[in-house]
This record gives sequence, structure tokens and C-alpha cells, in this order.
Amino acid sequence: MESVIKLAKILVTSAWPYINVTPHLGNLVGSILSADIAARYYRLRGNEVLLVSGSDEHGTPIEVEAIKQGISPKELTDNNHAYVSELFRKWNISYDNYTRTESFVHKKFVQRLLMKIFENGYIFSKEIKMLYCNKDQRFLPDRFIEGTCPNCDYEKARGDQCDQCGKLLEPTNLIDPYCVLCKSSPIIKTTKHWFIDLSKLSNKLKTYLSENNNLPANAKNFSLNWIKEGLKPRAVTRDISWGIPAPFAGAENKTIYVWFEAVLGYISATIEYYKNIKEPEKWREFWFNKNAKTLYFVGKDNIPFHTIILPALLLASGEDYNLPWNVSATEFLQFKGEKASKSQRVGIWIDEALEMFPVDWWRFYLAATRPETKDSNFSWELFIDKINSDLNDTFGNFIHRTLKFINAKFDNKIPSPSNLSKNDNQLLAKIAESVEKLSLDFENFKFQSAANSLIGLSRIGNQYLNENEPWNLIKNEKRKAGNIFYVASQIVKAIAITSMPIMPNISQQICQILNLSQNKKSLCWEDALTPLDANHQINKSKPLFKKIDSNEKELENKLIMIRNRLS
Ligand SMILES: [Zn+2]
Ligand SMILES: [Zn+2]
Repeated sequence: MESVIKLAKILVTSAWPYINVTPHLGNLVGSILSADIAARYYRLRGNEVLLVSGSDEHGTPIEVEAIKQGISPKELTDNNHAYVSELFRKWNISYDNYTRTESFVHKKFVQRLLMKIFENGYIFSKEIKMLYCNKDQRFLPDRFIEGTCPNCDYEKARGDQCDQCGKLLEPTNLIDPYCVLCKSSPIIKTTKHWFIDLSKLSNKLKTYLSENNNLPANAKNFSLNWIKEGLKPRAVTRDISWGIPAPFAGAENKTIYVWFEAVLGYISATIEYYKNIKEPEKWREFWFNKNAKTLYFVGKDNIPFHTIILPALLLASGEDYNLPWNVSATEFLQFKGEKASKSQRVGIWIDEALEMFPVDWWRFYLAATRPETKDSNFSWELFIDKINSDLNDTFGNFIHRTLKFINAKFDNKIPSPSNLSKNDNQLLAKIAESVEKLSLDFENFKFQSAANSLIGLSRIGNQYLNENEPWNLIKNEKRKAGNIFYVASQIVKAIAITSMPIMPNISQQICQILNLSQNKKSLCWEDALTPLDANHQINKSKPLFKKIDSNEKELENKLIMIRNRLS
């Protein structure tokens, strides 16, 4: 992949979470946490980074849920957006703008861009047949309708999908369909809708995909196949009231389909950010300047929305927007071998997780088990192992024993090196090698490998201490012991900086103990290899982690208690 270190402005984005429920850990790891790790890394490398996303709040699942709760959809999403925004802050997701699809800037932008696409001749209208409830006097798209699945006979299949067999459905496929609001049988009624003719964009999309060498092969091939099979027109409008009003003449009571507007939120969120800081033109530098890059973190089911739909909209506008530079997709995080499901109570939600353990423990665990090449499975057994053996016994132990020794035996000062041995110098070279490997891991979005490399570097440090036994040398050969702790402290410094993208709080704690913030200048990636000076004064070391002493069963019970309290 093309390296962009220091060269470019990078817009990092995470897919917009649909805000009918709180995200679970699987939603978090692929898009939100991954985007944050990348954004933090690029900032450390001196890139100009903007991290944006927002709550996706329109559409039928939210409207149906609000009707069930007897509140307005806006009330529902106001509450959920506030709750989830606060959770992302607690997860230390460093968004520059986490906004929402109800934002005024977003609505105006979407309407304007759609009109432009319409004027450019990519949108046409046609009459279609839809299910309609006479009693409620409304059309019944997807979630407003239930009935028997034609595939598996499940009696409560939804208009868009059967929850039992997973098959995607059209409302008119259902056997014995009924309105979810009043349970009466719908009639079929004709309605006019607006469609985007994606096939007109096939050639341009094919060129974009073929020429983009950064896209991962799976995303690229999957998308090229989609085009080969022939792109079909997609409805842009819907007969529901909760959404952005369609801007076309004759479409006054219709709203814009959510799949269409949420992906445009990446642009409107950038516009809104710069509007808020009173630099209203600066967003253009991220979207039109060809040296700027846009980077998207999504789950694998979301790939075509970012490799086909979003580029199609941008191309159809004729406004020369930057097309996605890279789309990084993860596989799924499963729980006990199954997909997370709120109704089945399978999974862990991001609010529950933080009630159990500190945020960096989770960030590390999720990075270290990130489903990069295949689905991964959450288990408490693995969680306990990662925290106790990797973070506590290896990472935390190495740092604490090194710094505590410097506190006690060297009067809180980094010892001066004198006549370093061959072995000491080899270790210093090893640090440089490890930092280089870490930068490649981060740049290639191999966060699993990055997390493991951090543990690997601390393991090397521990081995070095064990082999040289400086606690024995200190009695008769203080100079040699000093050399060992000089070298060990350089490893600690490298870890302090390079752990920042994955564990920002822990990194900050180590930097604080190392007394690195004294010159007020913010730290950068290169500082990982700038040695601590001899006689540099450090602060008192404290243990960074503690062991989990509960077993899997006890943690599962604790989770259930927390879940009952939160719901
Ligand atoms: Zn079914
Ligand atoms: Zn009805």
C-alpha cells in the first residue's frame, strides 16, 4: 500500500452506527475503534488528520421502535445519540466531529447533492406497487410489515428480512402479510418513487476500482463482480415521514432512503466541523485536494456501500470529490460462536464492558483479537489470558520493575551509559527494529499484529533483565547495572509512545512516570527512538495493571448483573 506518512491530510472515518440500539463490541472493533487507532497513529506521525462519524438515525427500524414506545422518533434518537456519544468519549474515541443525520448541515448537503445528481440525469421516477394499510393510511415499507416467510414458514418474518432463516425479503414476498401497527391485512397500492440509475456509472466505477491499488483485494474483487453482474437501479425515496424530505418536485411527502444519506455524512460531518470552528471553506481541502486521502473503516457487510454506492454518488454529482482512497473491512466478532443479538442476549455491549474493566484493557483485547482475516470469537478465557499474561505479567511487569528499580537504586534518574556491551547495543538496535515493524503494522491496519508486537517488545525487555540480573550486579558492578537500566528504560520509552494508538490512557500514564511532558511539546512517533538522556529525572512508578482473579463463570454472572442494572 502507498505510504502517506507526513505527506497528506487524511480524513479517517468510521461507519455511522445505526442508533436504534447501543453498539456491541463487534460494532466497535471493526469500524469505530479501528478508525480511532488509525487516526491516533497518523496524528503521531505528523499527518493532518480529521476523524469523523455520526449517528445514523433515520429509517423504519427507528420509526417502528418509537411508535412502539409511544414517543416521537426524534425523542428516541435524541436520547440514544446523547447516550452513545458519551460512551464513545469514555472509550476514548478521538472524534473531531461525531455528529448525526438530523444535523441541519447534513440534511441541506444531502438535499443539494441529490438535486445535483438529479439534474445530471442519473435519477428517474417510476410507479411501483407497495403494501398499504387503509386503517393507518400509510404505506408499509420493510419493518412496518410482518408475515410468514416464504422460505422457512417463520410466522413473524419482517418485510425486509426473515430473522429465523436470514433470507432477505421484499414486503410483497410475505405470505399473509399484516401491518405491524394495527395487525390488519394490507392492500396493494401504486406509488411513485425516484431511482438512481447505477448502471450509467458502471464504467466510471470500474475504472476507479481497477486503478485504486490501495483497496484490499477482497473488497476490490467483490465490488468488481457486483458491477460485472450488472448494477440495478436503487430507490432513493421512501413513503415514510421519518427522514430527510426528498428534494424532487412531486416527491413532497417522501423521504430519502437511509442507505443514500448516511454515506454522504462523511462529507457533511467535515463541512460541519469546519463551519463550527469558523473556517467554512477548509473542508474542501479534504474532499477536493487530490493529495488528501479518505480512509473508511467498516464491517465486511458494509463494503459495497463504500466501494460502489458512495463513489457512484460522488461521481454522479460531477463535482470531482475525492473517491475513497482505502476501505478497510473486518470480518465479524462472534460471541460463543454466534452473531451478537440483543434479543437472544448474545454479545457484550459497549456500555456493559466499561462497567466491568478499564477502557484500555478492552481496547487492547479487541485490537489483539481483531477479526482481520477471519471471524474471531470472544471468550472470557481468552480475555483473562490477554489481561493477566500479556498486559499484567509481561507488558506491565517489565515497565514497572524497570522504573521501580531506577526509582530505588538510581535516585529516580536514568543512569549514564558507559562502555555499553555488545549485548546492550544489540538490544538498542532491536528496539529500532521493533518500532519499524510497529509502524508497518499500523500503516497496513494490522492492529492485531501491532498489539502483539507491543507485548513482544516488553517480553524482550523482561528476558534482557532476567539474563543480566542487574539486581545482583548492582552490589559490585553498579556501572554494568546502570547500563542495563539505561537500555531497559529506552525500551520503556519506545513502548510508551508506540502504545498510544491502542492504549491512550496507559501510554499517558507511562509518559507521565517517564516525565516526558515537561517541555510541553506534544510527543510524536519519532520520539520512540529518541533516547532518554542520562540523569533525566523520572517520577515514581506505579503498577499499570492488576490481575483478574475471577473465573469465567464469575465474570459471566457479573455481566448479567450489570446488564440487568443498565436495562
Ligand atoms: Zn425464513
Ligand atoms: Zn395498520
